[in-house]
Amino acid sequence: LRCCSSNGSGEKERTLGIIKPDGLSGNYSDRIKQVILESGFNINKEMVIQLDEENAANFYAEHSSKPFFTNLIKYMTSGPVLVMILEKEDAVIHWRELIGPTDAGKAKITHPQSLRAMCGVDIEKNCVHGSDSHQSAQREIAFFFKEAPSAFKTEAVRKHDEL
Ligand code: UDP
Repeated sequence: LRCCSSNGSGEKERTLGIIKPDGLSGNYSDRIKQVILESGFNINKEMVIQLDEENAANFYAEHSSKPFFTNLIKYMTSGPVLVMILEKEDAVIHWRELIGPTDAGKAKITHPQSLRAMCGVDIEKNCVHGSDSHQSAQREIAFFFKEAPSAFKTEAVRKHDEL
């Protein structure tokens, strides 16, 4: 868990949120979206996609040498994910606050109101993702919504792009 600080500018910022396979299969997306909207975020774009191993490994490239990497890739490819661009002032830090600590088991004790406490299980299966900095957010948004391979260009994304 690296995290972030407000840039203090008061401008709208975008971050990337993902409802991971356990969150989606556990039917948590409606509750999570409700929390997102009640917390003042706009959901700019969203799409449901099935990551393959290469997509997941590229997305989590910074963790490629970590002992948990192989299991993380299995987890992230175990079912579809819901990817969202979230917009708000200081969106990166506010979304990280809402999702809570990486370890969902600990979050249930230390951050019981957090999304990971609500829908996650442990340090791996923590049901949601949030970019950890403004720079990561830009890379991750581009990964899914700008430079995404054609396989990602679902109907949902095309419709948003045409608006
Ligand atoms: N993860 C894991 N074991 C660990 C640490 C992380 O399986 O010991 C998984 C977990 O799903 C986490 C993701 O790898 O969300 C990325 O880890 P990071 O440290 O970037 O945590 P995050 O930024 O998601 O809180």
